Amino acid sequence: MGIPLETNGLSVNDYSCGTECTWCDGCGDYGIMAAAKRALVELGFAPHEVLLCFDIGCHGNMSDKMLGYRVHGLHGRVLPFASGAKLANPNMPVMAFGGDGASFSEGVNHLVHSVRSHYPITFILHNNANFGLTTGQASALTWQNQPMNTSPNGIPEDTIRPMEFIFSLQPTFVARTWSGDIPQMTRVFKAALQHRGFAFVDVLQACPTYNKFTSHEWLLEHCYDANAEGHSPDNLEAGKKLACDTAEKVACGILYQNEDIPHFYERLQPRQNVKTTPVEEVAITDVSDLMKEFV
Ligand code: SF4
Ligand code: MG
Repeated sequence: MGIPLETNGLSVNDYSCGTECTWCDGCGDYGIMAAAKRALVELGFAPHEVLLCFDIGCHGNMSDKMLGYRVHGLHGRVLPFASGAKLANPNMPVMAFGGDGASFSEGVNHLVHSVRSHYPITFILHNNANFGLTTGQASALTWQNQPMNTSPNGIPEDTIRPMEFIFSLQPTFVARTWSGDIPQMTRVFKAALQHRGFAFVDVLQACPTYNKFTSHEWLLEHCYDANAEGHSPDNLEAGKKLACDTAEKVACGILYQNEDIPHFYERLQPRQNVKTTPVEEVAITDVSDLMKEFV
């Protein structure tokens, strides 16, 4: 079945800005960007209605390759910015994109607190299991004993198991998908964007230049759609078990979702029963007299 290129009077071309892509041939970022555009179009969001936040990394170059309000931030810091923007304007859909390097090293603290805070944003993890932009160094998610450019004998540290880590934080939305399956990514991204709280989406991303151990072909062979095979995402322990058991096959789709947990903004007592949003309450203040005190 084909994917509609035009829905709600919008087209994926509305998100195109004409900037030439510089990713390597076969990079999974192409597919992830295509799925992000399709998910937004199918949900009826025009580029001027969404905020797209990018971390530093190969994926971050997407910030000048698709339209939308866009921020390209500091390494590991995409989640604080995305969360703050969402709290300032809760009516605006926010997608944050980050790599495995930044998200599980420099920014791992922000990932922890974003999950436990239930900020109502969508986080797309570009998980190619290495620092691609800086030419293939091992990240915290690189497989154990895997030779990489700066660690030819493998890394001495233990590899973080991302799903065990995320599930230990009592998440409300956990999904996994992979960069070669645009229809599945589109479905998962749409569900994440419609989720009540913080949505964590692990996208296993092909990086043919530096990741030779989970290639596109490896992902094609190992990934399967757990929802299509009957997995219902309403049980945390069942979702965790499925997510963590990757010995033979890799379960993809929506692995766990709980819509009953209030998100951060709903729990914020000072905002209870307030009809306006913080951005609507910003007032222009003349500080010129104040400034004269300092000249
Ligand atoms: Fe993509 Fe890897 Fe090339 Fe970066 S290094 S553009 S992640 S294939
Ligand atoms: Mg990476």
